[in-house]
Amino acid sequence: MKKVLFTLIAILTFYSMDAQNFKPLTAEEKRVIIDKGTEAPFSGKYYLFNKEGIYTCKQCGAALFRSDSKFDAGCGWPSFDDAIPGAVKRVPDADGKRVEIVCANCGAHLGHVFVGEGFTPKNTRHCVNSVSLEFKPLKLPKIVSVPVNEDSIAIFAGGCFWGVEYLMEQQKGVISVESGYIGGRTKNPTYEEVCTKTTGFAEAVRIKYNPKIIDYETLAKLFFEIHDPTQLNRQGPDVGDQYRSEVFYTSDKQKEIALKLIKILKDKGLNVVTKVTKATEFYKAEAYHQDYYKRKGTQPYCHIRTKRF
Ligand SMILES: [Zn+2]
Repeated sequence: MKKVLFTLIAILTFYSMDAQNFKPLTAEEKRVIIDKGTEAPFSGKYYLFNKEGIYTCKQCGAALFRSDSKFDAGCGWPSFDDAIPGAVKRVPDADGKRVEIVCANCGAHLGHVFVGEGFTPKNTRHCVNSVSLEFKPLKLPKIVSVPVNEDSIAIFAGGCFWGVEYLMEQQKGVISVESGYIGGRTKNPTYEEVCTKTTGFAEAVRIKYNPKIIDYETLAKLFFEIHDPTQLNRQGPDVGDQYRSEVFYTSDKQKEIALKLIKILKDKGLNVVTKVTKATEFYKAEAYHQDYYKRKGTQPYCHIRTKRF
């Protein structure tokens, strides 16, 4: 009897968990959400759908997109130029070219994301299968943009900017990351000029972030973990002072935090060579350097995260 009761409790627990977390899927939903299929274009129920509310994950119910980021791209699938912060994860697609998007909570396949097409000022199209979504009507609270002050810009040089940009962009609260050059002696440098190693410029990223979601210290810690701060004028296979490790601070508070973190690492026995310098003019790099890995749909070769704090 005890055993029967135990089994019964186990079964009930299993089903209540299932009901709570994951909605049972139909065959078509399973084909798209689990097996990463694509619904036929112009067939989905949310393609030409314009009500106010939020779109949630069909499988787990997590809120993914707001209706005010939806637009008609003419492509046959619902398109959104933005996602709810942290709700959608970008992963390189198995095809080696595109960037797949999945629900950050449950991993459900949603579709793909494309950047640089110019449909809206955000220049981003989350192309999503209707089948992966559920619509919930809701009066949406207005988004108030957080003013960007000096403190919400962070500039780091940590080797090849492609990898640093890619990893920083994954952080919740990061608004944008640009690859560029800083700390040199000429004006408007080109990549070729920087590669002559005569200009003094370092490859760097300029990060715009929302200080209400992520703070400078968190970003700076990440910076010290995604590159090797003990390598002088190089990062792995990339050799030369353009690949040096350097924090370019935009306020005294940032300087303090950078020096504090370097001290923590030195106390742990790491021979940190990272320089801490007041930011000078940052020159955005050529377009083909921006979002390099995202466009290629591959992972950085030069940067992986190593826990140091
Ligand atoms: Zn989900």
